[in-house]
Amino acid sequence: MKQVPMLPHTPSVHEARISSDLNGTITAWNAGATEMFGFSATEAIGRNYDLLTTTNGTILHREALEHLRAGRPSTVVRASWRRHDGRVAEVTLMHSPLFDDDGTLIGTSTIARDVTAVAQLQDEAGKERERLIEAQEMAHVGSAEYEFSSGRWWHSEEFGRLLDLTTGEKVSGAMLLEKIHPQDRDGARTDWLSLHRAGSRHLDRELRLIQPTGDVRWIHASVRVTDVGIRTRVLITALDITARKLAEAVLTHQASHDALTGLPNRILINTILHDLLGRKASKVAVFFLDVDRFKTVNDAIGHAAGDAILAQLAARLRHAIRPGDTVGRFGGDEFVVICKNLDVTEAQEVAERLRGTVKEAFTLGGRRIFMNISIGIAPAGPGDTAETMLDAADTAMYQAKNAGGDRSSVRDSRTQAAATARLNLESDLRLALDRNELRLHYQPVIDLKTGIPVGFEALLRWEHPTQGLLQPASFISLAEDSGLIVPIGSWVLNQALQQTQQWRDSLPGAKDLTISVNVSVRQLQDLRFVDTVRDALSTTGINPAAVTLEITESVLMDQSELPTAIIQGLHACGVGLAIDDFGTGYSSLSHLRWLTAHSLKIDKSFVSELGYKDPSSASIIELILGMARVLNLSVIAEGVETPAQLNELRRLGVRHAQGYLWCAPLPAREVPKQLQTHAP
Ligand code: C2E
Ligand code: MG
Ligand code: MG
Repeated sequence: MKQVPMLPHTPSVHEARISSDLNGTITAWNAGATEMFGFSATEAIGRNYDLLTTTNGTILHREALEHLRAGRPSTVVRASWRRHDGRVAEVTLMHSPLFDDDGTLIGTSTIARDVTAVAQLQDEAGKERERLIEAQEMAHVGSAEYEFSSGRWWHSEEFGRLLDLTTGEKVSGAMLLEKIHPQDRDGARTDWLSLHRAGSRHLDRELRLIQPTGDVRWIHASVRVTDVGIRTRVLITALDITARKLAEAVLTHQASHDALTGLPNRILINTILHDLLGRKASKVAVFFLDVDRFKTVNDAIGHAAGDAILAQLAARLRHAIRPGDTVGRFGGDEFVVICKNLDVTEAQEVAERLRGTVKEAFTLGGRRIFMNISIGIAPAGPGDTAETMLDAADTAMYQAKNAGGDRSSVRDSRTQAAATARLNLESDLRLALDRNELRLHYQPVIDLKTGIPVGFEALLRWEHPTQGLLQPASFISLAEDSGLIVPIGSWVLNQALQQTQQWRDSLPGAKDLTISVNVSVRQLQDLRFVDTVRDALSTTGINPAAVTLEITESVLMDQSELPTAIIQGLHACGVGLAIDDFGTGYSSLSHLRWLTAHSLKIDKSFVSELGYKDPSSASIIELILGMARVLNLSVIAEGVETPAQLNELRRLGVRHAQGYLWCAPLPAREVPKQLQTHAP
């Protein structure tokens, strides 16, 4: 059988009756009193109130008597009385006078009621309230109540704190509105009216409050309407969400700003531009900025320092623009500036100013670093979107780069078309290797003493499926920018070496034939290039001394920070290095020495001017030859087209040359015939 737990004993009588004489001596004690206080009648009668009171019972009794003597019929007081077992009972005492038959006051009759439970409840309620206050404080939530009919208002401490209301202050709607942020005020007013008039039952809204300090505090206000009888009450809770809003703002900022520079990122740039165009802002111009050869800077000083430079650069750009304009970081070393109210000429002036600010030396750890930027300018045209403008500015920037960098270039429709064509060509180029569309043509290098080819330069061609045979000028830079030059270059090297070794093995008088292969700086920046060369040498079995890698001089100059390990690695392989297009760049002797090149190729621009009246080309060639002699470099003249040029070169003492005068670059199959005609 299921056991029912015993309930604790609770007093059934909650009323004790006690009588006392004028001295306060207890004269009567009922069962209720025994039950309430635990003393039996015999124990209590004859004692005074000291038996029960925790304070002075005599005084208590006297006060009660005086009260009654003063003519008041009865008094009710609250007291804490002591029980027989020592516990305290909370009681209310009602003292009434006791008269004898003559109507003389002879004592008091006291009815005591045990209110311990009630007191406990009240105590609990008080604690409950405290807990509520504490909880509200902790949760940053305040509550308030408003009664429509009476206009009575009540609010919790936390609510008062949130809205900066002083306790007891008469609160009105106007006053509350006053505390709301001006931008949220209309919304709040509409909400209130809809509750009051339109009968909405509840509303939630996030709004801002203005603190007396001027600070903004965000709250989430929930408003509920309840009906109690005929009374309509509005309950409001206000939750402080400032911290959350702040976190959200930080997140939004992070999502839309670049961490390194603090500038708007690509996403935000797009949005800003989109907004501007949407608002039909006048004469918007987009500038696309890219640091020239930033990779070199990065490789030279390390990525952390590179980042520091970019941060400095960002700060300079920010200072260089007008307050209403925007500068953002698009990624890497690319920045975008958006301006309003600029015509093309003004835009070009802005571009010059931006370039000027970047040109000044950057200092980092005592080191001075110089940088240039290329800028593409896209003034807004009809039908432009954020995307087309950014694209156009990017394309114009590439145009500036292709023209040598360190300049700005304005978008035009032709550039746009060229960009599209370039993009299409790039996707074709990706497939060219797999589709076997690349070819090598070979141009002989002639020994001017004998007139016999001593070697060949391999020159790349692309058999484009629809555009026919393409020259390197139309796709090498594309291959370099896309990184495709690495696999393509490795194919060129293997193909050229294999072909040459085959000629050396099979053709009469060709056993010492040399081969020159053009190499892009992109290839030279990767240490794996040394492996590529070593592999190509070992697979083809060609004598490394027969192989020369040509590196363009202007590029060399810019890339003076090429990893020395690569240069050393190439030397270790035993291949020769040549400086191509010599004279067009800015090589200094120190560069030549650092590279430890074996030969240099005089650019065809000097050769083509030979034999004309202006003797400067001849002087330059003489200078170059003198320098080559000092550095023990062999010299090859490029682009020899006329017998006059040949004579002049002979006179100056040039030993080797290439040019249409002898032969244009040829497909491999035509080389043997060419060698035969020149055979001694
Ligand atoms: P480059 O290395 O200076 O090659 C010489 C260029 O001059 C070749 O142009 C050649 O056809 C041309 N040329 C030869 N003789 C004459 C002449 O008498 N008169 C004139 N006006 N030009 C002559 P090409 O083949 O169009 O190559 C252009 C450039 O493309 C090369 O200049 C080289 O820098 C680059 N290139 C070619 N093949 C490759 C390659 O496989 N890899 C890399 N990275 N670059 C290459
Ligand atoms: Mg070359
Ligand atoms: Mg050249």
